[in-house]
Amino acid sequence: MRTTAMTLRTAVLAAAFVPSAPSLAHGAVPAIAVAGAPAMVAAHIPAAQEVTAIRAGRLIDGTGQAAREDQVIIVRDERIEAVGDAAAVAIPAGARVVDLSGHTVMPGIVDAHAHLSIRPDIRTLRGQLEGMEQHDAMQMARIVRNIRVQLMSGVTSVYVVGEVHYNDIQASQAVEEGIVPGPRIYPSGNFISTTAGHGPAEYRTTNGPWEMRTFVRQNYEMGAHHMKLTITDRARVGPNNGTPYAPGESNYTKEEIDAAVNELHRLGIEATAHANGESIRLAVEAGVNSIQHGGNLNEELMDLMASRDVGFVNTYTIGYQSVFNEWGFLDNEAGDIRDWLERGRQVHEQALEENPGRAQRRLDRLGQLRRSKEKGVKVGIGTDSMHGYMLLEMENLVAAGFTPLEAITAATGLNAEIVGIEDEVGTVEAGRFADIIAIDGRPDENIRDLGNVAFIMVGGRDQSALSFR
Ligand SMILES: [Zn+2]
Repeated sequence: MRTTAMTLRTAVLAAAFVPSAPSLAHGAVPAIAVAGAPAMVAAHIPAAQEVTAIRAGRLIDGTGQAAREDQVIIVRDERIEAVGDAAAVAIPAGARVVDLSGHTVMPGIVDAHAHLSIRPDIRTLRGQLEGMEQHDAMQMARIVRNIRVQLMSGVTSVYVVGEVHYNDIQASQAVEEGIVPGPRIYPSGNFISTTAGHGPAEYRTTNGPWEMRTFVRQNYEMGAHHMKLTITDRARVGPNNGTPYAPGESNYTKEEIDAAVNELHRLGIEATAHANGESIRLAVEAGVNSIQHGGNLNEELMDLMASRDVGFVNTYTIGYQSVFNEWGFLDNEAGDIRDWLERGRQVHEQALEENPGRAQRRLDRLGQLRRSKEKGVKVGIGTDSMHGYMLLEMENLVAAGFTPLEAITAATGLNAEIVGIEDEVGTVEAGRFADIIAIDGRPDENIRDLGNVAFIMVGGRDQSALSFR
């Protein structure tokens, strides 16, 4: 029997009575005096959660394995303690039981290329980045909106690749403290870019190996989890909207990239690079851990990435940002994630119909994705700043010839592996954070079923009651 999201929520609430713990707030849960407290207060203050048992009708664990039926997941505080056949896993006495026996349970989705504050409201790439010149208060308001949409689309981790004023580090803390709902945020700190490079004007300033090292140290001191080097694509400014440049040409020299990667690794954190075409070689040879975008791939570059075990994060939907001006619909009209996904699909289909050149570029790119997979390159996906659209990125992989299960793996376990967070998230395995979603349907058979998100848990905390409006 299938339960709707609404009856599911009711069932969970009835079973739980008190909201689950704010387990993202590491060690920040205050002791709550329950005895004598008014019932209303007790019901609204999160109580310390002991153990939750999730009954999964089907489980896709994110490792690439096919779905298994009739599984039980034991969640203790913020982590998964055990996973296995219902017959083999004992449910501890007193555990809260979440019955998802009519659903497909899977790891929360990992967005491996995310910006929190920006979105293409204003047409053209330049306009999108100019959003980062607005006051930080406005940026934080957008962040609150954007991460909520991400969470409701089933995304429970976002790997950020460039913000301004350390806003992502602040947002990460706000989510951890339970001030606003959102996915787990892996912050990158501020953009690293060169004069006449790519990114917000304020940060197109870092030149030379020592400035690279200084910038890396500053970001690290402020709390960046990893950093992104913005290697290709020039600023589109000046009377000619940017000087002409060869596609894939690097804005940075080899010694600048080498210095930054060396400094990041000295600090024990990972480097990712916004790189397309030939610059991918420069980045991979400098030792970056992953590539973002990875456009204009040829056979040689694919072989290089495969041989160094460096994956790339494809960002498809941002490619139609110039025709996408729909954020008012998200803010004021879309009732739920299904509405938002449908709007995105419509705009996309119309863009392809109206522009044969765009449709051809898409086919070329789908060929590169398919070939990369054949050659053993790890292909991941990210929304860039198309918040809530990880499913559209997965549908794009399916269009390229990936099976729905491969697309789901790309968005979960593989994405986590590409950006080096696989010990924490991306799979439903003992020891990982309890970042778990449930789908009404069978997304491994029909990828579009992923739009029917019926349950969302981040770090053991049930977030299913959130709504768009
Ligand atoms: Zn980006």
